[in-house]
Amino acid sequence: MGYAEVSVNSPIARRQSFSYAIPPGLTVSIGQAVLVPFGAKVLQGIVIELTEVPAVAETREISGVIDIKPLLTPIQIDWARWLSEYYLAPLWDAVALMLPPGFERRVLTFFTSAPDKTYDADTLPPDQLAVLTALGKNGKVGLKELGKQLGQRRTQAATNQLVNRFLLVRSYEFEPVRVKPKLVSYINLLVSPVQALAEAEIFRKKRSVRPAGLLELLAGDNRPLKLVEVKKKTGMTAPALKKLAERKLVEIKQKETWREPLSGRQMVLSLPLALTPGQQSVLDTVKTGIQAGQPSVFLLHGVTGSGKTEIYLQALAEAVKQGKRGIMLVPEISLTPQTIERFTARFPERVAVLHSHLSLGEQFDEWQRIRNGEFDVVIGPRSALFAPQPDLGLIVIDEEHEWNYKQSENSPRYHTRTAAIRLGELTGATVVLGSATPDVESYYRALSGDYKLLELPERVTPVAGTPLPEVEIVDLKQELLSGNRSIFSRSLAQKTGEAVSSGEQVMFLLNRRGGATFVQCRRCGFVMRCRRCDISLTYHTDENSLVCHQCNRRTAVPAVCPRCASRRIKFVGIGTQKLEQAAKEAFPEAKLLRWDSDVIRGKHTNEEILETFRSHQADILIGTQMIAKGLDLPLVTLVGVINADTSLNLPDFRAGERTFQLLSQVAGRAGRGLRGGRVVIQTYEPENYAVKAAARHDYASFYENEMAYRRQLYNPPFSRLISLVFTHINEIRCREEAEKMKKVLEAARDTRGIADIYFIGPAPAFMHRLRGRYRWQIIIRGYNPTQFLTPIDIPRGWTVDVDPVGL
Ligand code: ADP
Ligand code: ZN
Ligand code: ZN
Repeated sequence: MGYAEVSVNSPIARRQSFSYAIPPGLTVSIGQAVLVPFGAKVLQGIVIELTEVPAVAETREISGVIDIKPLLTPIQIDWARWLSEYYLAPLWDAVALMLPPGFERRVLTFFTSAPDKTYDADTLPPDQLAVLTALGKNGKVGLKELGKQLGQRRTQAATNQLVNRFLLVRSYEFEPVRVKPKLVSYINLLVSPVQALAEAEIFRKKRSVRPAGLLELLAGDNRPLKLVEVKKKTGMTAPALKKLAERKLVEIKQKETWREPLSGRQMVLSLPLALTPGQQSVLDTVKTGIQAGQPSVFLLHGVTGSGKTEIYLQALAEAVKQGKRGIMLVPEISLTPQTIERFTARFPERVAVLHSHLSLGEQFDEWQRIRNGEFDVVIGPRSALFAPQPDLGLIVIDEEHEWNYKQSENSPRYHTRTAAIRLGELTGATVVLGSATPDVESYYRALSGDYKLLELPERVTPVAGTPLPEVEIVDLKQELLSGNRSIFSRSLAQKTGEAVSSGEQVMFLLNRRGGATFVQCRRCGFVMRCRRCDISLTYHTDENSLVCHQCNRRTAVPAVCPRCASRRIKFVGIGTQKLEQAAKEAFPEAKLLRWDSDVIRGKHTNEEILETFRSHQADILIGTQMIAKGLDLPLVTLVGVINADTSLNLPDFRAGERTFQLLSQVAGRAGRGLRGGRVVIQTYEPENYAVKAAARHDYASFYENEMAYRRQLYNPPFSRLISLVFTHINEIRCREEAEKMKKVLEAARDTRGIADIYFIGPAPAFMHRLRGRYRWQIIIRGYNPTQFLTPIDIPRGWTVDVDPVGL
């Protein structure tokens, strides 16, 4: 008899895996999905190892296999074990990353009547009789239903006895999955806007403000609006809306949330371009790696527009030629329609695009098709790395410096780059990391020889040698001194006016949404804060309310100060909404378009906004960092960064890097067409090294300065960090727990005599309060903090983040 080590789907399992006996007649392999008894329950599990001897004396038997074919490969199991060790995460969490969508479900127990078994109702104990009676006509009943009748203990006893007497058969089924596509209700005008306004007038006369408001809203926008938004904005209730629908003024329609980004566009097969000598030499090097089938990691450092994507495409073609497949990771699917379009045009019908808007059923189908080897490449966000792509030959991580490649919310808190490199080592796949502004840690590894550095210093443009845009830094202190109190410096105002009047497009970046950044009483200085998160609330012009940017809670603007009852409420600072208003006043002739997460949450998708701007239905695009992402907008000749300091002032050792990346990217947006481009960066810190280096497109000088700071402060890549966060609703309890933990850590360090481990904190985390819970943080810094922390038992309530980003 053999044994299996099984990782079980249970949040309370304290061990990484449990030993089970394999019952006679059952074939079990590594990676197989099984059902196993666990306490009084039956749980899902994945076999991670087969052994001759169990790890414990007493074992129970595996209840059965879920699928005849193993779900995961032995390589995936190795990978999961590595992820779990590296990120100090439960093994199941790592395994779960690779399972088919919708796999994790509760197992429900059922009972059916045993065929051809008769019993004497008179001699049967009442509980057992009750169970058999409950089987009813269908001959089937759920454990849950029985429990409601008899209580849990009596149900357990009675069913066990009946099963032992062969009068009852126990079986397991999965909780059903919802496979409906995600539908969203929209509301649409059925009459012309003019008619709608006339109807609105009639409602107003009858003092029915809400329907009037709704009709005005719809007439003003003249496009379908999301029902939830409409309800929020107009206060309309469902019955009231129904009445309007009955009068044939509006209709309510359901639409799928996700629009195929490529549908409706003409698809033309694209052929490989003839490469520039620089591209050719890069591609040749990558090809050698792919042909060798040995793990190799390349860092492709190339300015925006240097032809990196073309190299990814041709490297993938090489992998396909070798009978291999690829995974292409992008920071966010909805912001990379052009990249996806280029892949589908080059590899028609051979591209799987994974995005979260697919329904569970669709995701599951896609997972199966990928496993069957139907696609040359899988494109998706970080989770696509875990797709079951067979014969992996190439993994590309585009914009490798992007922060959302780190999973920070859920365990395992993995970094896509680290996980991908490990997968490359296990499969022999080549890993290509691409960026115009590599993460300094990646660049450091490339310089030290861990990765091979490939550089593309020049743009490939239709006109050879179109230079990178010219960048001007404007000192906002000087502007104030010379009496300019406007949001726009004189230089930016002048250049914007010129660009708009010559039919060119302009983008304004401001890394803060909303109207005013905070609302303060002029008399006593009281600042309006979120009651749950303790951060100041942001005024949103378009809905006239105060919004918490952490928990999204909305509050009305107070008429008087809650502390001193003064009426002198002041709105301080600017966000994108206020910027939009200011731009409207400063450039009355220009058509404006705002793009931030408020607009996206509302009625428009990223694609819609981009398309509106690309087709020149607006002159100025105002947005948060979203506008800096990889978009090709040839008519943009001017980019204005309204205030570069918002990201410089983040309390994080990566603030300088963040600023450099953002400014470089946004600068890369300008001048992608024939007309060239200019960038104006407004800042109160014109001497900052990150700002200056970004203005000169000078990665090397930024890198040198940044590394000097990192070395001096013993920050990564010179050390490694682990962040420990404890959350609790009670602040005192939270602080006490953090202090206790610090003592445990210090004691462990001292008794084990480890010199190179330092602790920062405990201190309130940057987001000190989140949704009503306090958060305290301890950072462990050292050469190998994982090795230090592994043997330490971390109590419940703590989250562990290895190599955290965004402290
Ligand atoms: P990146 O990914 O580095 O931003 P892209 O691959 O998107 O660069 O290239 C920028 C532009 O130049 C694209 O429009 C692309 O089609 C074009 N391009 C890339 N390589 C070549 C080439 N060898 N010949 C002509 N055009 C090219
Ligand atoms: Zn006050
Ligand atoms: Zn809040």
